[in-house]
Amino acid sequence: MKREALIAPKNYNIAMEMERHANNKNQVALIMENHLGETYQLTYNELLKRANQIGNAFLRAGLKKGDKMLIMVPRSFKAYEVYLAALKTGIIIIPSSEMLKTKDLQYRISHGEVNGVVSYYSFANQFNGIDQYNHLYKFSIGNSMDGWIFLDEVMEEESDQLDIVATNRDDIAFLPYTSGTTGNPKGVVHSHGWGYAHLQTAAYNWLAIQEGDRVWATAGPGWQKWVWSPFLSVLGTGATGFFYSGKFSAKKHLQLLADYQINVLCSTPTEYRMMAKVDNLQEYQLPALHSAVSAGEPLNVEVIDMFKRYFDITVRDGYGQTENTLLLGFMKNMEVRPGSMGKPTPGNEVEIIDENGEPLAANEVGDIAVKLDSPALFSEYFKDMERTKMAKRGEYYITGDQAYKDEDGYFWFEGRRDDIIISAGYTIGPFEVEDALVRHAAVQDCAVVASPDEIRGNIVKAFIVLREGFQPDDQLVKELQDHVKSLTGPYKYPRKIEFIDELPKTTSGKTRRVELRNKEKIQSS
Ligand code: ATP
Ligand code: MG
Repeated sequence: MKREALIAPKNYNIAMEMERHANNKNQVALIMENHLGETYQLTYNELLKRANQIGNAFLRAGLKKGDKMLIMVPRSFKAYEVYLAALKTGIIIIPSSEMLKTKDLQYRISHGEVNGVVSYYSFANQFNGIDQYNHLYKFSIGNSMDGWIFLDEVMEEESDQLDIVATNRDDIAFLPYTSGTTGNPKGVVHSHGWGYAHLQTAAYNWLAIQEGDRVWATAGPGWQKWVWSPFLSVLGTGATGFFYSGKFSAKKHLQLLADYQINVLCSTPTEYRMMAKVDNLQEYQLPALHSAVSAGEPLNVEVIDMFKRYFDITVRDGYGQTENTLLLGFMKNMEVRPGSMGKPTPGNEVEIIDENGEPLAANEVGDIAVKLDSPALFSEYFKDMERTKMAKRGEYYITGDQAYKDEDGYFWFEGRRDDIIISAGYTIGPFEVEDALVRHAAVQDCAVVASPDEIRGNIVKAFIVLREGFQPDDQLVKELQDHVKSLTGPYKYPRKIEFIDELPKTTSGKTRRVELRNKEKIQSS
C-alpha cells in the first residue's frame, strides 16, 4: 500500500465511516457484559440515533464546532455515543481516563483550553475545585448532579436526526494526552484525516477485521488505544465490538473469549501475560479466534509460545504511539518472529536512524523514526512548538524509542531511549532481560533498570514481583541470574535483584522505569 492510500478525501469527517453501517437496521455495533453477567446489545442504527440526540443536546447547550470537550466515561454504550456525537458536531475530543484525579484534570483543562466536560456522575467530584469550574459546560451521565446538565435526561428531548457538520481532513478531531510514562503528558493534535490513515493502517491490515467479526479490544475509554481499536477500528469497519464492564481477571477474560466466540482480540502485553500464566489453560477453547494482537509495551515470547501451544493462535505484536498510529507490526499473514515488533505498516516509512538523521545499517541500534510526511503522524504537540521541534530530525519524526532492524527488515525493540542501560561499555536494552526473566515460572512481572555502580558506570538491576507460592531468597536470586545467562548474552544478567510487591505503573498500566531508576540514583548518591 502506498502512502497516498492513507490520505483522506479533502472534505472528511471520520464519523462518516460509522454512519455508513446504520442503514442496515440489524447490524449489531456493540455487545457488552456487565459484572453481574448480564448481556446487552446495540445496533448501529440505535447507536447513531442516540449519538444524534446527544449531539443535538451539545449544540443546544451552546457548544459548537472547534470547542474542546473532555470526556470521562467508563466502558459503556454511552462512551461510544458521546464520542460519536462529538465527532459529528465537530467538537474536539480530549479522551480522559476514569482514573484521572483533580490535578490531572486541571492540567488538561487548562492546557487543552477545554470548553466542556462529560463525566460519569461518580467521577464528577474530581472536577470540584477546578479553576474553570463555573465556566465549563458540564454534562453528567448516570445520575443528575447539582450544577451539571443531566445528559441522559436532556437527550431524550432531542431529535434523533443530525447531519455531520462540514469538516475537512485537517480539522482537529482528537486531542489525546500521552500516557506520561516518562514525564508530563503531552497534548497530541490529531485531525479527521489522521483517523482515516489509522483505519487503513491498523483496522484492516493488523487487526485484520473481517466482515461480521466480533472484536474485543480491551483498552478502556480515555486512552488513545481506545480511540485506535475499540472505537475507530471496530465502528469504522462495521464490525461488532464486545466489551466487559467488570474488572479484569485473567480467567474471566479467557472464559468471555470462549463464551462470546470472539474472532479478533486486541489486548495489552500485561493482560496477555496474566492469561498465559493461568493454570489449566487447556480448559479453555477458542476456535473462533482468528486474529490476536498486542500493543503498548513489548510483547513477551512466553505469551506467544503459550497462545500458540494452547489455542493454536499466534499473537502478533504491533508498535505505535499516541503521536501516530501503528508504525510497526506483524500483519495477518506475515511470518512472526517472536520477540520482534514486525515491519513498517503499509504506507508508513519507518527507519532506524543515527544522530545525523541518516538510516543505519542492519543490526545497528538507533532511533526508530518515521518520515515526516506520513499521514498517520500527528499534526503537532498542542501549544508546544519547542517539543514539536525537538521531535524532528531532518526529514524524520523521532519516536524516542530505540531498536535495530535485522537483515530481513524485522525491527527489534531495545527500549525507550532513557531506559537503555550502559554498563561497562555495553549497551543493554531492558526488554531483552525482562523477557528472559518472565519466562521463569517464579516471575509474575518485572522491570529492569540501570543502577549506578562505581566500577561499571551502571549495572543491570531487576525489580521482580513473584508469583504466588514463591519465596524470595538468595537461592532464587542465583537461579534467576543463571536463567537469564542461559537465555541472553551473559553480560546482560541482572547483577542486582530486588523483590517488590508491585511495580510503579502509569494509570494505563505501563511500567514507569523512570521511578525505579531515580530511586537507584538517590540510593547511590
Ligand atoms: P509519555 O510519552 O507521556 O512518556 P508513553 O510514551 O508511554 O508516555 P504512549 O504514546 O501511550 O505514551 O505509548 C507509546 C510508547 O509505548 C512507545 O513510544 C513505546 O515506548 C511503547 N510501545 C508501544 N508499543 C510497543 C511495542 N509493541 N513494543 C515495545 N514498546 C511499545
Ligand atoms: Mg511517548
